[in-house]
Amino acid sequence: MYIGNHVSSSKGYEAMGKQAVKLGANTFAFFTRNPRGGRAKEIKIEDVEQYRVIAEEQEFGKVVAHAPYTMNACSAKEDIRELAYSMFEDDLKRMEFTPGNYYNFHPGSHVGQGPEKGIELISDLLNRVLKEEQTTTVLLETMSGKGSEVGKTFEELREILDLVTLKTKLGVCLDTCHVWDGGYDIVNHLDEVLDEFDHVIGLAKLKAIHFNDSLNPCGSHKDRHAKIGEGCIGKEAMRKIAVHEKLIHLPFILETPNDDEGYAREIALVKTWRKEAGLQ
Ligand code: FE
Ligand code: FE
Ligand code: ZN
Repeated sequence: MYIGNHVSSSKGYEAMGKQAVKLGANTFAFFTRNPRGGRAKEIKIEDVEQYRVIAEEQEFGKVVAHAPYTMNACSAKEDIRELAYSMFEDDLKRMEFTPGNYYNFHPGSHVGQGPEKGIELISDLLNRVLKEEQTTTVLLETMSGKGSEVGKTFEELREILDLVTLKTKLGVCLDTCHVWDGGYDIVNHLDEVLDEFDHVIGLAKLKAIHFNDSLNPCGSHKDRHAKIGEGCIGKEAMRKIAVHEKLIHLPFILETPNDDEGYAREIALVKTWRKEAGLQ
């Protein structure tokens, strides 16, 4: 069972590993660079080595790096798409310092060009940037459909996957707040939503969960995260997700509005739920 939260990447890999351990986590997420974009910090080999020792000792699961959320692979402007490509390419090179992990990104916002054009531009970028030799799996995040976001339905993500040549390098990260806001009722119909995911995309493609409650009702397309049990999804539905047999093998990442203490509490809560459900 792998549970963790977003940790700060400003002090490097070893610091991230230590922070995760401190909070009781055995996986984590981090921004590969400032979430608003910009230059990434240089990676130091010694720092990565120190991190590897911690990750092995603590038996960490795969970590889920997050691309800057300003990156827009389907902007209407070519220079913004090129910037997305160069950040993506650089991030994938950097990810190879810690081989075999996940790199999650928001597919993008089509800004009035329409979802079909968005899907085409996103898959074009992926076809340029993915390499046969990379060990990182790139994850498309399910989105809430705020503004002109692409990826608000399983079908849109499936269309992107269909257009990408190196399919084995691609997977999906399901964000519970986003799918709920996108209109998938995971409170009353979790099994049906997972069946739908399976039919449209295939559950084998599901590689990670962003585990967030939502401040808004199902279908609101708002994307405002809430602490576990303090939002419209609610504690019992979140518990069912955390112990669902089709999901328990995946890394669960908290992106809830919390301080360290709050994260430690939510990590402990998920562990308790799983223990009570007989899942070690
Ligand atoms: Fe995200
Ligand atoms: Fe997310
Ligand atoms: Zn979100």
